[in-house]
Amino acid sequence: MAAPRRRSLATRLLVAYALAVLAVVGVLGFFVERSAREALVDEVQYGLAEQARAAAFSLPETPGEIVGFVEGLAPITDARVTVIDSDGSVLADSHADAETMENHSGRPEVQAASRGDTGFDRRVSVSTGFNQLYAAVQGPGDRVVRLSLPENVVNAPIREFRGRLLLMLAVAGLAGVAAVALVARRLTRPLAELSEVASSVAAGDLDVEPPRSSVAELDDLGRSLGSMSTELGHRLEEVSGERRTLEVVLDALPQGTLLVDTDDGVLYANRSLIDLLGPVPESLAQVVPFRIQEMVRRARDERTVVDIDLEHGRPARVLRVIVSPFDDGRALVVVSDITDRRRVDDVRRDFVTNASHELKTPVSSILAAAETLQVALERAPDKVPQFAAQIEVAARSLARLVSDLLDLSRLEGRTAQHVEMDLERVVVAEVERMRPLAEERKIGVVSDTVPVSVMGSPEDLALAVRNLLDNAVRYSDPGAVVTIRLDRQGDEAVVSVTDSGTGIPQRDLERIFERFYRVDVARSRATGGTGLGLSIVRHVVESHGGKVTVESQLGSGSTFTTRLPLD
Ligand code: ADP
Repeated sequence: MAAPRRRSLATRLLVAYALAVLAVVGVLGFFVERSAREALVDEVQYGLAEQARAAAFSLPETPGEIVGFVEGLAPITDARVTVIDSDGSVLADSHADAETMENHSGRPEVQAASRGDTGFDRRVSVSTGFNQLYAAVQGPGDRVVRLSLPENVVNAPIREFRGRLLLMLAVAGLAGVAAVALVARRLTRPLAELSEVASSVAAGDLDVEPPRSSVAELDDLGRSLGSMSTELGHRLEEVSGERRTLEVVLDALPQGTLLVDTDDGVLYANRSLIDLLGPVPESLAQVVPFRIQEMVRRARDERTVVDIDLEHGRPARVLRVIVSPFDDGRALVVVSDITDRRRVDDVRRDFVTNASHELKTPVSSILAAAETLQVALERAPDKVPQFAAQIEVAARSLARLVSDLLDLSRLEGRTAQHVEMDLERVVVAEVERMRPLAEERKIGVVSDTVPVSVMGSPEDLALAVRNLLDNAVRYSDPGAVVTIRLDRQGDEAVVSVTDSGTGIPQRDLERIFERFYRVDVARSRATGGTGLGLSIVRHVVESHGGKVTVESQLGSGSTFTTRLPLD
């Protein structure tokens, strides 16, 4: 739409006023002048009638005298004087030859005068060709005395009247212009102020006080503007409050969120996105990894949700990126870090594979021994006890494996109730429990403890101590001594189990706490190991807020140390 031609309110008012004044002056002038002219014409005619009456009064009788009378009278009255006989013939005329003049009995003013009235008429004169004013009265001998003047005798006074009228209207008009200018100023100044206030509001300054005005409508407008800006302020506050809430929520989300505009500009990015992808990009073209850019385009083109897992950064993180297109062309990118989930999945998969593998070995042994046992029952009964013993060994190993797996899944599946407990009692009880097995293998067990109580699960900590002692005994040779110490160091309870056994190669130290990781698989199996003992220990200690470490020298023994917080 084309912009309308702009003019100030004052100009508009003045132009409108001027047009109105011109119209009024035109119409008024026309009618006033016409009425004035009529009044003047009437007055001239009455004057003529007066003069005619006076002339009729002293009209002589004889036609000769009448001619002289007429000629004498004309210069006095300034009018054309005509005397008409009772039969309508013209007896004398001051401005024309009476002989040549036609019979005047048909003239309206003559007819009226003949009836005894004062006759008036106004018409174009046959003799002069101008508009004439006539007044006629009856004189002696039914003769009619008629005086006439051209109508334009009123022109001069009318002109003068018109001049005065125009002057008057001009003065009134100018006074009006001044008044309009004054009113316009009184209207436009507050309007300009209001417009300034409105501009400030539009520019975001809502703390404005619109000026009051003595013009009711402007005052109302100002007050409306004021309440509008207050209301706008409330709305803006509401909107920005909601926006802040939304931002807080979005920032708290672990998923990175990026909103891409239709023109590829970035409309919004939350804090997690910065953590995952780096500084907020200004446009889609700056988004790294580049595959996200392709995904946004594909999602828009195909109008479907596109999701992809990709690796990004160093160290590499696995990111799941989901791009959802909106109908209007914008697109929402949600990025989640699934590295841990992936790792857990991998660990779980490995665990199932390893567990199945570990279970397979004793089960195969049992099956093989059972089959052989059946054959031996018939053919070599003396070998039966040997195969039965083999089955027992394999079944025990299976039972240990299942028991460790159950311990592990029990530990992982719940949060243990921690109570204030006497750690020394647990350590001493586990030493006593281990003693028969140790003696059987000719291994001495020495304990050196102090009273220490911690917050924890007695059952779980007993399991951890048992596994450490069990390993120390199993990986020591007969004659060796295993020492367990319980001490208090700072705000920690320290349990250390030292043996003088096989020791562990340096390269394996880091991995022995992994499930099923074994340095010497044969020895582990032969001594009834499952490969799960240390992972159970680590799980228990970490769930108590502690840490387990190992120091070992290949061939001369190992020390496993667990540190547990005292409270
Ligand atoms: P396992 O049931 O095989 O003993 P663990 O998880 O308890 O499984 O231990 C993992 C591996 O760590 C063992 O297979 C063994 O090689 C090594 N290991 C654990 N404790 C000791 C120790 N005290 N001395 C030497 N090696 C040990």
